[in-house]
Amino acid sequence: MRVKLFAACAASFLFAVGCSTERPPTSAPRTANAQDLGPGFHKVRDGIYTFAPDQTTTTCSMVVTNDGVLMIDSCNNSLDSKKMLAAVKKVTDKPIRFLVDTEVHNDHTWNHFVFSPPAVVFNAQGAAEGMKKGLDPKRAETLAKQSPDVAEVVKNYKFIAPQIEYKDRLTIQLGERTFEVIYLKNVHSEADSIIWLPKERVLFAGSAANVKTMINLRPHVRFNDVFAGYKVMRALNPEVVVPGHGQPTTAKIFDEYEGFYTLLMKRVDEMSKKGKSLDEIKKELKMPEYAEWAGQDRLGVNIDVAYATLKGK
Ligand SMILES: [Zn+2]
Repeated sequence: MRVKLFAACAASFLFAVGCSTERPPTSAPRTANAQDLGPGFHKVRDGIYTFAPDQTTTTCSMVVTNDGVLMIDSCNNSLDSKKMLAAVKKVTDKPIRFLVDTEVHNDHTWNHFVFSPPAVVFNAQGAAEGMKKGLDPKRAETLAKQSPDVAEVVKNYKFIAPQIEYKDRLTIQLGERTFEVIYLKNVHSEADSIIWLPKERVLFAGSAANVKTMINLRPHVRFNDVFAGYKVMRALNPEVVVPGHGQPTTAKIFDEYEGFYTLLMKRVDEMSKKGKSLDEIKKELKMPEYAEWAGQDRLGVNIDVAYATLKGK
């Protein structure tokens, strides 16, 4: 019987990872107030907690189910990962079964080793390759010099790429919850995933939009792909949107970013039509309407992407 169950699970593993082991689903997850978990934690629903110390720092999250925990991203740094691990243990005695990455960059993926094993890591096709590209082999060594606390965590560092890469879409059924994992093309990194909980109406939206912060856009990003991503996310009609950086918010961030990028492209287009070079545009273009956004030093890379999008390169 046990063998049969395992075989059925193995067969459906890629598409529905909900097969439980021998343990039957037990009681509902324990709930905790976010303040019990420490500063930066937010409870967005029973059993769903996010952690981001401030508006700009990478968010990592946990979703507790009757059959274990699914995490989203592995936190900004090793000490934050330790805080998250402690918070998970406060909320449930069940294991972290899965960890889904919303992108490939270090601040979301470098700390997999804190959670995996036991967690199995997922992201879209191309994630491992993207992670390897940005890998600094001396990073653990460098970080260890920051403090004895950091050194204590990173001494266990091991590069862990997603064990499972999916294409386009993946449904994870864990305990009583359903997670729709959806690939968004070219919105931020080499492999970007959003995680949608249809019953709870909570969307983990990754870094295609954050909270009033200019994003460090990589040269391959194109605004038409980003707008297509916003369209997919708006169509889900989420009540809560958890961005890749910062505190939980709503779908209004997609409108804010689309407004910012649209105005930016309009200005770049006007200046370009007057014969100005990209370098001249980068020196002269201002976005005073967004002066209160964080990350002003990234306006230049945003202009690069606007320019490339307009030129259809
Ligand atoms: Zn990133």
